[in-house]
Amino acid sequence: MKTAAVSKERLNNHINQLGEIGKTSDHGVQRLALSNEDKEARYIVTEWMKNAGLTVSHDHFGNLIGRKEGSDPSLPPVMIGSHIDSVRNGGKFDGTIGVLAGIEIVKSITDAHIIHKHPIEVVAFCEEEGSRFNDGLFGSRGMVGKITQQDLKKVDDHNQSRYEALKTFGFGINPDQMEDSIRTIGEIKHYFELHIEQGPYLEKSGHAIGIVDGIAGPVWSTVKLTGEAGHAGTVPMELRKDPLVGAAEVILAVENLCKGDSDAPTVGTVGRISAFPGGNNIIPESVEFSLDIRDIDVERRSRVIQRIEKKIQEVSRSRNLEYKIEKYVDALPVQCSHHLVQSLKQSCRNLGIDAPLMVSGAGHDAMLLAEITEVAMVFVRCRHGISHSPKEWADIEDIIIGTEVLYETVLQHI
Ligand SMILES: [Zn+2]
Repeated sequence: MKTAAVSKERLNNHINQLGEIGKTSDHGVQRLALSNEDKEARYIVTEWMKNAGLTVSHDHFGNLIGRKEGSDPSLPPVMIGSHIDSVRNGGKFDGTIGVLAGIEIVKSITDAHIIHKHPIEVVAFCEEEGSRFNDGLFGSRGMVGKITQQDLKKVDDHNQSRYEALKTFGFGINPDQMEDSIRTIGEIKHYFELHIEQGPYLEKSGHAIGIVDGIAGPVWSTVKLTGEAGHAGTVPMELRKDPLVGAAEVILAVENLCKGDSDAPTVGTVGRISAFPGGNNIIPESVEFSLDIRDIDVERRSRVIQRIEKKIQEVSRSRNLEYKIEKYVDALPVQCSHHLVQSLKQSCRNLGIDAPLMVSGAGHDAMLLAEITEVAMVFVRCRHGISHSPKEWADIEDIIIGTEVLYETVLQHI
């Protein structure tokens, strides 16, 4: 393999040093957005950015931005980004490798005195995980102009609003001036993001990295089935209107319908269910469960959802239940830029790396940036597909392969 100029040792050190900030007793990381740990992380990342030749600032959404000017100041920047906030007791790779790889790429470009026309920006987006204000992708939604006053009113566990947290965080962040930080179409040339896969595909297929060609969009609904409560000992089986048994039938159908096309990446999950009133000896009166359906193809996703809804109708009819389906998120899948995918593939060929095309089942900042620019993502293999856990792990050998591919690719576009 041809080696690029990026330094494995330096990148590894940065990942480990950042992993010390907010380290938990079981070696996880807890760095909630706009917390003291987040502040400490920003100080150290700022130092690394400056050392790489980037000029550092914050926008009014709390995004940390490093910028290196190109030779033509009239051109839009090529952006590399991800996030440095974490979930509660998460891992040290999710998000951070994207930001630190970006800094490493710029450091290599600076040290090699490579002349580039376009500016380069490295961004750590604010609150991607949504673990503090229960509402993720904040900084990237802000950058593309999708944040409302409602989003600023969200409060954390201590009843502090996001507005207050931003206003008092420092770094010149002022949520009253958010409008000034919105970017529009044409203002960013391309957006690149390196991220751990958070799934088992690369490990299973034996690849260090994969090229993402699409990010699945989720549809989130709440389903409520209502029947009739009764005594578990006295109501005969044939006279029951038991919504929990109905829910069981529906949940099995969700699995079957999502598995229907074995070539499709459709996934469906019921992750939460509750029965009311919820007693050992009571036939439930009603049952509520969540439904999370994702796919990269919006028409196939709609077909699956229609079939699930039809099943809910059938089950309700045959069991004498009432049903209500409430859809509260309906996000469009995102296609990564065809020509950036080709460009990543070419870099892989140049470096002798075999990287499959794959779909991202999880949402990322790239999904939002796609609203205003062409985006591309590289996934890095992670152990057993585990993330959002102290057990999260990616080998530095794999991370450096992803960083080198990105380095080669970014050089083609600046
Ligand atoms: Zn992430």
